[in-house]
Amino acid sequence: MDSATLATFPFLSGAVSMAERLGADLDSLLDGVAYEDARARGKQRVVEALRRSDVPDVSLAGSEFDRLLEIMSYTYARMIVSLIDDRFLTKRYALAESVRLDRNLGHILKGGDEDTVISVARELNVSAVSTKKGLMMPFTDFLRFSSRIKSTEWKLVNTEVFNGYVYLPGPSFCRVLQNALQDRLEEELPFDVPSEIADMLNAIIPPISEELEEMKNRYSAEGMGEVTADLFPPCMRTLLANTQNGMNLSHSGRFALTSFLHNLGMNSEEILLLFAQSPDFDESKSLYQIRHITGESSGTEYTSPECATMKTHGICYEPDRLCASEKINHPLVYYRAKTYMQKRDAKAETSE
Ligand code: SF4
Repeated sequence: MDSATLATFPFLSGAVSMAERLGADLDSLLDGVAYEDARARGKQRVVEALRRSDVPDVSLAGSEFDRLLEIMSYTYARMIVSLIDDRFLTKRYALAESVRLDRNLGHILKGGDEDTVISVARELNVSAVSTKKGLMMPFTDFLRFSSRIKSTEWKLVNTEVFNGYVYLPGPSFCRVLQNALQDRLEEELPFDVPSEIADMLNAIIPPISEELEEMKNRYSAEGMGEVTADLFPPCMRTLLANTQNGMNLSHSGRFALTSFLHNLGMNSEEILLLFAQSPDFDESKSLYQIRHITGESSGTEYTSPECATMKTHGICYEPDRLCASEKINHPLVYYRAKTYMQKRDAKAETSE
């Protein structure tokens, strides 16, 4: 495999061999001037995973040393994730690296290079083979890595099985490998980081940890108690009222309301009941869409859009005084703030 491919898939054993061949070592990665870009990119891998559940691609058109830096950035990122040792971050990072894998495997398949895809699959313990009809994998591997995807087209009975192997179209094949890498990273991380290495990474951990805590607080439904529509921001109250008054919601409105309700802890069936009053209500179609957004069928749990996105889609309805506060940048932040204010007022009333 060439060095650009190894840098694209830095978890491959060939990437480790390449780093050894080029004399890369941990000491240089941690404080060598030549590895500064690898450290910056490693940090970027973690921060982008946290913010966007993705690791953006970088150009690999440079020298072999540039590609080595990309490989070493993966090592650096894994050390950061291990040191922070937080389940939310680990899962998010595993998802982001595997989403990147899926995307890049898709590009490679489009270019007609099945051999590279098969090599990557085998390193992820998927015994892939290429046939005239396309790519296949043992049905046991398919079941192992696709079980979290609940939609009907992923059921084994809806696939073509021959001699214990499942034929899969390219995108589905890559999607299974995404899950395989995600599972592997979630199993591998965190690993033990020696204290002398932890000391050297001391300075970069706190800002990432702070951002992580802020995000967890912002999106967590914990402490919100039972979902109370009175505390919803105006945008969600309007979307909910429109649904209950039998008005059709736009796609973006339906997505925003569904993900918001799910983020507050409602399950797919509870959300379905709310949509049942829409004039275009179609139970199976609605349940399919809801399950996709809640992650039951897609494996990806979506977070409701931020205020800026709501505004872009024209669904930030009648923002009130609280919305105007600088701190309110997300409907979930509004809900949390309203919950806090309500509790504070109730406490003040009882102490009077
Ligand atoms: S400003 Fe934000 S929180 Fe307030 S209604 Fe609009 S989208 Fe919702």
